[in-house]
Amino acid sequence: MDTKYIFITGGVASSLGKGIISASLGKLLQARGYRITIQKFDPYINIDPGTLNPYEHGECYVTADGMETDLDLGHYERFTGIETTRDNSVTTGRIYLSVIERERRGDYLGKTIQVVPHITDEIKRRILLNATKQPLDFVISEIGGTIGDIESLPFLEAIRQLRWELGPSRSLSIHLTYVPFLAAAGELKTKPTQTSVKQLQGLGIQPEVLVLRTEHKLSDEIRAKVAHFCNVDVAAVIQSQDLPSIYEVPVNMMQQGLDSICLSKMGLKSEHKPSLGPWLNFLERRKRATKEIKIALVGKYNLQDAYKSIIESLAHAGTYNDHKVKAVFVNSEEITHENIEERLSGTVGIVICPGFGSRGVEGKIIAAEYGRTHDIPTFGICFGMQMMVIEFARNVLGYQDANSSEIDATTAHNVIDMMEEQKNITQMGGTMRLGSYECELIEGSHTRKAYGEDRLIRERHRHRYEFNNLYQEEFESQGMKCVGINPASNLVEIIEIPTLKWYIGTQFHPEYSSTVLHPHPLFLSFIKACIHGTTEA
Ligand code: GLN
Repeated sequence: MDTKYIFITGGVASSLGKGIISASLGKLLQARGYRITIQKFDPYINIDPGTLNPYEHGECYVTADGMETDLDLGHYERFTGIETTRDNSVTTGRIYLSVIERERRGDYLGKTIQVVPHITDEIKRRILLNATKQPLDFVISEIGGTIGDIESLPFLEAIRQLRWELGPSRSLSIHLTYVPFLAAAGELKTKPTQTSVKQLQGLGIQPEVLVLRTEHKLSDEIRAKVAHFCNVDVAAVIQSQDLPSIYEVPVNMMQQGLDSICLSKMGLKSEHKPSLGPWLNFLERRKRATKEIKIALVGKYNLQDAYKSIIESLAHAGTYNDHKVKAVFVNSEEITHENIEERLSGTVGIVICPGFGSRGVEGKIIAAEYGRTHDIPTFGICFGMQMMVIEFARNVLGYQDANSSEIDATTAHNVIDMMEEQKNITQMGGTMRLGSYECELIEGSHTRKAYGEDRLIRERHRHRYEFNNLYQEEFESQGMKCVGINPASNLVEIIEIPTLKWYIGTQFHPEYSSTVLHPHPLFLSFIKACIHGTTEA
């Protein structure tokens, strides 16, 4: 199998959108009929991003096979619809862990273990791994961080070696940089790009393609200058100007020929443009959907990236309901009974966000109560669902001290409790119920209707605590129904109050599986209810 490998590195600054460029290129190659996968290499030492504070790296995205990964994998899936796995997300920590474990086992037979070749060999093995498990035409590897970081050096060395071994027809390097605009001089500056490429060249990597992020259109002159200084064809200097939506990036890249340049550099023909039909229909519909609704995102992280997948899922569902959804962040730490009405004013639906720990919990419970008592469409996700359950237990069942044992370990009414199997595990990392689990939907529920044909669904999880089944009968008799059950463990995965317009909480994270071409049914039905005020409309 002659799998080809594309490496995407970044220079000058972080946050330039390498993930979006990787996802866009993947999308274009996929649209041409190639079998692709996109993987991310993060140079930090954490074994996975599971224990990272969302303020540092944004949301933790979970794959169907239960890996806690970088949020860029979310972009890859939303763009291509192809599920990623634990093999698509690798950190320095994981690389070192496997090398050190092997060293402890004695696999290296007394050799001195070094960054080169042992760490670089392990990086190379990981780069090649996906294609050993499935037939792939292209593997796109995005390298986190910025050229010049000390910690990314082993990755770049591994790429240099691989490029040499694979040859130019099977490997390609794309470097993404930033061209700043100096307002005082009224000029776009290419020097940082030249410096960054020089650094890369110094490490033995000559990029074939440059993608320049810019806020202003680059003239042909500037592109020619960059090409000239960096040993790159002018046609291979692509500009990535700010666009109204990340979903327009693949089209922009296609118009400039990013995919065809990559193909021709690797000796493949590219006579036709890729067919982006359904994607273009989505963009068209998105543009036409100008009527805006506001949805309250009740959470503790005042940062777009912390709830990335939820925001994207709401946007997808908005487009397919011909509306523009604006997610308004409502800080749960500041919510009180007195100000909740004002904080939610102008919004037509509430999402109670996932989370861990006690900060901002009471505000989420107040939001759940407000949604329930005012019959506002309310969607609780994971921790959000748990808050709906606690609120119901306190205010309807009358257990004032009801809580999750995560927040109050001694409460007599632990309506959310730790799973039996998890009780003995004390280590923080990797002790959660992670990844896809089956869920059986109960006939006659709003949820069942939202999913359409499907009665047995699979959704992704990331949590330690669960609905406490000892209380199930009591909840149900008072009107909160358990409408999604895991058939193997009997765990409650979905609750709803069927007498309300749309009041649903899911123990799983539906936001991880909403894609541009396959929006998630629960988000679709939630937004529909928010627009029309009823699920029947
Ligand atoms: N903290 C809760 C639990 O561990 C919910 C986690 C989440 O919202 N992802 O069960």
